[in-house]
Amino acid sequence: MLISRFDPWGSTWCTCPVKYSFSPYTGCSHACVYCYITSYIPDAFHARLKKDLFRRLKKELHVVDTYISMANSSDPYTPEERKLGATRKCLRVFKENDVKVLVVTKSDLVARDADILSEMRASVSMTITTLDDSRAHQMEPHAPPPSRRVEALRILQEHGIPCSVRLDPIIPGINDDEIEAIVAAVAPYASHIVSSTVKPRSDSMKRMEHIVDVKAYPWKRYGNTFYLPRNIRFSLLKRVEEACREHRLSFAACRENYPFTSPSCDGSHLIKDQ
Ligand code: SF4
Repeated sequence: MLISRFDPWGSTWCTCPVKYSFSPYTGCSHACVYCYITSYIPDAFHARLKKDLFRRLKKELHVVDTYISMANSSDPYTPEERKLGATRKCLRVFKENDVKVLVVTKSDLVARDADILSEMRASVSMTITTLDDSRAHQMEPHAPPPSRRVEALRILQEHGIPCSVRLDPIIPGINDDEIEAIVAAVAPYASHIVSSTVKPRSDSMKRMEHIVDVKAYPWKRYGNTFYLPRNIRFSLLKRVEEACREHRLSFAACRENYPFTSPSCDGSHLIKDQ
């Protein structure tokens, strides 16, 4: 199936509303060092278009009774999208069928589709992990720099498209010094922040060794995933929460067991009902 019910490996700490996952691509060429799709997608950092995409999408659309999250194991605006335009065509299908969509991306290419997004029930969640373009290149080598992502948020906001920001992942020793600055930089263009500390699997832990001293932390293993100790996670999230309060943004944490009062964690509450 192309469209499936979102289930983050049955994580008891997931607070996501019932939603559906869909991606036009298999794999993602952004190749983020902390990404764990390499643990279950072969040749994961080489995005390729799904077979028979549009026929299957139209056939499966009827299962969606809440909203589609696009995407969770790939970026809908992976570099190949610039040439292929598959995500843009999918958005047209969603618009024609009045399907609600939460676009999750770390590419400014999403601003190209502001014309369609502004005419449908949609919201954009932009991932921003640093404001430093060279630091971003270390963490997310083939994703557009954060300066362009912030500019994309500005354009989306200008088109009346509700936006949230994923400050995810926070990696101590890499980007934890930027928490307050990131929230301040996006506050004019977003109304919600969802944040999460880094949760590597064995494969992404290995890649992270090149940018951070992973042995400095007593990781806790839950299933296949490693978590930072609770006191470190909570102190980082508290800083995000306080910065959000200062800028009057709603706040949520993702798979952290950290309490929050926002209507949704992923920013889907920003999608208009009508
Ligand atoms: S953008 Fe997301 S799916 Fe793509 S490599 Fe980075 S973390 Fe993985």
